[in-house]
Amino acid sequence: MKARYIGRFAPSPTGPLHAGSLVAALASWLDARAHGGRWLVRIEDVDTPRCVPGADERILQQLAACGLIPDEPPWWQSQRHIAYQAALDLLLTRGAAYPCACSRREIDEALTVQGRPPARHAERVYPGTCRHGLHGRPARAWRLRTDTQGADSVVSWTDRRLGPQQQDLGLAVGDFVLKRADGLWAYQLAVVVDDAAQGITQVVRGEDLADNTPRQIHLQRQLGLPSPGHLHTPLVWAADGHKLSKQNGATPLDLADPLAALRGAGAVLGLPDDLPAGSLAGWLGAAVTAWQARYPLAAVA
Ligand code: GLU
Repeated sequence: MKARYIGRFAPSPTGPLHAGSLVAALASWLDARAHGGRWLVRIEDVDTPRCVPGADERILQQLAACGLIPDEPPWWQSQRHIAYQAALDLLLTRGAAYPCACSRREIDEALTVQGRPPARHAERVYPGTCRHGLHGRPARAWRLRTDTQGADSVVSWTDRRLGPQQQDLGLAVGDFVLKRADGLWAYQLAVVVDDAAQGITQVVRGEDLADNTPRQIHLQRQLGLPSPGHLHTPLVWAADGHKLSKQNGATPLDLADPLAALRGAGAVLGLPDDLPAGSLAGWLGAAVTAWQARYPLAAVA
C-alpha cells in the first residue's frame, strides 16, 4: 500500500511572511511533495493579542504567489476551541493536567525559596506548587504534569536534520501551561490537537521550535496520540544576530519576484543554486528532486 504523508505549514498571523518564515513554508511543501503527500496550511491565531488583522490572508496570498498552494482549505485555530477544551478535559480526567493558581511573581518566589531564582528572560521551570491542589486559591491557568512517566521525564526523539535529541522536561520546563491565565490556549496544546486532527505525519518547521518538540511528544503520549516525524529547518539570522523576525526588521517578501524569494529560501536549505530558474513551476519541480537528495525521505507508515 502506498505510504500516506500529510505535512503542514502553520504560520502565526503576526505579520506577513518574510525570508525566515518562507524557509519553513518551502521546506514543508518540498517534503510533502517529495513524499508524494499532501500539504496543508493552518493559521495559528490562538495568541490573539499578537495577531495582526489581515495577516492571515496576506500570508495565503504570498504562499500562492510562490506556487505553494495547500491541498485543502486552511484551518484557523481560533475556530477550534471545542477540540482544545475536549483535550484539556480528557487530561484533567486522567489526572495528567491540573489547575494552577500561581502568578508569575509567586512562581519566582517559590523558585527563589528552592534556591534556583529565575534568570532574566530564562524559561521559568514551574516549581510544581499547585500539583497537589489549589488550597482554596482560584484557578488561573491549566498545566500538564511532566512527572507522569515515572521518575524519568526525559524525552528522546530523532530529528531528520539535527539527529538524536533529548530533553529532560522536568529540568527544562517543568509542568507547562496548556491554557493561559488570560484564557487563551497555549501553543503546545493547540498544535498537538490540530496535528492529530489533521493526520499530520511529518512536522517540518523552523529550528527555533525544536526545543518545543519534547513537550509536544509528551503531550501526545498523555493524550494517546501518535507522534509525527520531525525535521527542523535552519533559521535566517538578522544583522543583529537574532533570528529574523518582524521585531528586528524582517521585510515582507517581495511578491514582485517570488522566484528570487524561493531561491533565497532554497539556499538556506542547502539546495543547489543552479536549479533551473526559467519558471516558478520548473524551479519548484527541480527543488523537489534536490530536496530528496539532501533530506532523505522519512519512512512513513
Ligand atoms: N505557529 C508557529 C509559528 O509561527 C509554528 C508552529 C509549528 O510549526 O509547529 O512560530
